Amino acid sequence: MSEIAYFDHSATTPVDPAVREAMEPYYSEDFGNPSSPHSLGRKGREAVETAREQVAAILSARPEEIYFTSGGTESDNWAVKSGVCNCAKCGQGRFVTTKIEHHAMLHACEFMAMMGFDVIYLDVDRQGLVDLDQLKREVSEGTNFVSVMLANNEVGTIQPLAAISEICRSAGVTIHTDAVQAAGKIPVDVGELGVDLLSISAHKFYGPKGIGVLYSRKGHHLHPFMHGGSQEGKVRAGTHNVPAIVGLGKACELSAERLTGTRAHLEKLGARLWNGVKGSIEEVELSGPPEKRLPGLVSLIVRGIEGEAMLLLLDREGFEASSGSACTSGSLDPSHVLMAMGYEAAVAHGSLRLSLGRDNTEAQVDRFIEVFPPIVNRLRSMSSRWAGAKAGAGGAGGAGGGE
Ligand code: PLP
Repeated sequence: MSEIAYFDHSATTPVDPAVREAMEPYYSEDFGNPSSPHSLGRKGREAVETAREQVAAILSARPEEIYFTSGGTESDNWAVKSGVCNCAKCGQGRFVTTKIEHHAMLHACEFMAMMGFDVIYLDVDRQGLVDLDQLKREVSEGTNFVSVMLANNEVGTIQPLAAISEICRSAGVTIHTDAVQAAGKIPVDVGELGVDLLSISAHKFYGPKGIGVLYSRKGHHLHPFMHGGSQEGKVRAGTHNVPAIVGLGKACELSAERLTGTRAHLEKLGARLWNGVKGSIEEVELSGPPEKRLPGLVSLIVRGIEGEAMLLLLDREGFEASSGSACTSGSLDPSHVLMAMGYEAAVAHGSLRLSLGRDNTEAQVDRFIEVFPPIVNRLRSMSSRWAGAKAGAGGAGGAGGGE
């Protein structure tokens, strides 16, 4: 078995040793409940408040605008469900989101639709960008809440969030963004983005799993999500997960210190990877925009073969990546993101997401470029779809496109 090269940082990242070290004392020595009045409790409370300041600093927010959650999924759900409570009448409201959001947002919106709310899903173009004119039209139709992700987790498209927020705010509509994939890779400044609400998750930038944040702009009315104790200003009940919160704070601090270097490293490695792949494989495409994309996220579409098959063979060579497909209830559906971008299902099945991290090296990228073309050739040699396309049939999902 070859040395493992982890190219799946959009799924999760390892916990930074300095983050783990910062968390450690809060499991045993300093285990107090931050809501307790004694000194151990006070220690916990101080740790939580320090972390709140660390998070606020990377978002250019105020500490009192930071609410700890169990991760990106909870933050997205909370944003939507608080939006529901801000509607004048129960069961009546209009929500706008995009067709390419993470399922944390899409499924929360589906639930709202089931509860009687109108939900509109904005189209995206071939690069995954929303149409600002469509947004303007939808916002003017009496919309209450808009959510548009800052950076897409499959193809890396970065949306023009400041322009999107401007449209929403000038119409008095709440704007939320899912910045889960953006944090730690590109600057995320709530003032510049102009959002009311924003979600992040620690495990995407070298922090622990199961901890995240919902930022809520001062003055925005955030409704309680978890009911119970009076933690988090009485809007998110539940004993604080102190070690995880401390880890999140430390991960934020480190990501701010390393942002410029990490970004440059990821951009360089990503370009090397894409240039190497495109130079050695025919009929391969980079999905998403050529620029204004997440650094280090190389999302490929390889014609005539299946992403799952590529993953399997890459795994045998020590490369851990992901496909754009979502495996739902045992059936392999093509990526909803690629479908929304106008790819045919057969073509979308050939997607492969390579998401690089700060520990990846040029040597690993070069080994990938060496190993990948024979894998593609092998799979294509067994693919009737590829053979048909090469014979000039040019059918659905064929090498010549036609999607
Ligand atoms: N939003 C986006 C864009 C994501 O990529 C993810 C995780 O993959 C989530 C939300 C969910 O975050 P978490 O895993 O912290 O619940």
